[in-house]
Amino acid sequence: MPAEPPIDSPHNLFEAYERLAAGPTRPIAGGTDVMVAITGELGPTPERMLDLSRIDELRGISLEAGAIVLGARTTYTEIRRSALCREHIPALVEAAATIGAAQIQNRGTLGGNIANASPAGDTLPILLAADAVLLVGGQRGEREAAAADFFVSYRKTAMEPDELILQVRIPLPRGRELRFRKVGTRRAQAISKVVMALAWQEGSKGWSDVRVALGSVAPTPIRATATEAVLEGARPTPEVADRAAETLASELSPIDDVRSTADYRRAVSARALHRMLRDAGGW
Ligand SMILES: Cc1cc2nc3c(=O)[nH]c(=O)nc-3n(C[C@H](O)[C@H](O)[C@H](O)COP(=O)(O)OP(=O)(O)OC[C@H]3O[C@@H](n4cnc5c(N)ncnc54)[C@H](O)[C@@H]3O)c2cc1C
Repeated sequence: MPAEPPIDSPHNLFEAYERLAAGPTRPIAGGTDVMVAITGELGPTPERMLDLSRIDELRGISLEAGAIVLGARTTYTEIRRSALCREHIPALVEAAATIGAAQIQNRGTLGGNIANASPAGDTLPILLAADAVLLVGGQRGEREAAAADFFVSYRKTAMEPDELILQVRIPLPRGRELRFRKVGTRRAQAISKVVMALAWQEGSKGWSDVRVALGSVAPTPIRATATEAVLEGARPTPEVADRAAETLASELSPIDDVRSTADYRRAVSARALHRMLRDAGGW
């Protein structure tokens, strides 16, 4: 095992930005992904590490101007226990409850899930479906990035190596519904074979602002825009559900890998969407 890299523990963002600007430094939040990489078995060991645990600006869950704002260091346990999350974004609470087991939920963070950018990251389809906005910061200043534009290629994000994710802002438009579904080998401690989020706005003329977002079916979390177009302006009837499921199956190009086959992922994605639409339609 390689020597442990030196680790800095700044007390505020100013110090953290200075450290990141000084040279290659890998942030560590809960460590549930990065500690696996530290052995050097999955690529080079980080040269230096930056512990985010003392930076208060990265913590907290609040309701601000029609949005839930979560600090990047918010853990899954905190999401599960938050009355605000339970009231306003129960789909994220549901997702948090499926991630690892209690030990991982106690340490693993929302910011870590985003920065790690695994196509199987369970919170990522929810962030896409909910039109979440990420606040990213570094010595050059802070900026907002739409979650939909953040995952640019396999495990690569639109963030620079000297930047941190600071906050996740999830807008709460009145009347928006947001649902989550994860399919893995087991109900707990399973990496997703397919993970999906569906969002829509209920209106007198049918659904609007429909979002269908998926993980584990492409190199990045994605939105299924052809399927969204089928559902836009429609209602969740059996006919619409059949058409949407068919469109989703033909729109996806997943791969075969150790966890699943492309055919299984395509079929299960279509069935999971059909089931969500059936539940939404109450039939
Ligand atoms: C046993 C086990 C089970 C798991 N089960 C699941 C599961 O079911 N679903 C799932 O989605 N994931 C799962 N994971 C993966 C992991 O727990 C999550 O991705 C978790 O959210 C990572 O958060 P963390 O705080 O531990 O990240 P860390 O390991 O601390 O960091 C992960 C990456 O993000 C970077 N980073 C962290 N915070 C920031 C920040 N604020 N700004 C910039 N970069 C940052 C780090 O440099 C690193 O590259 C599992 C992991 C294990 C070990």
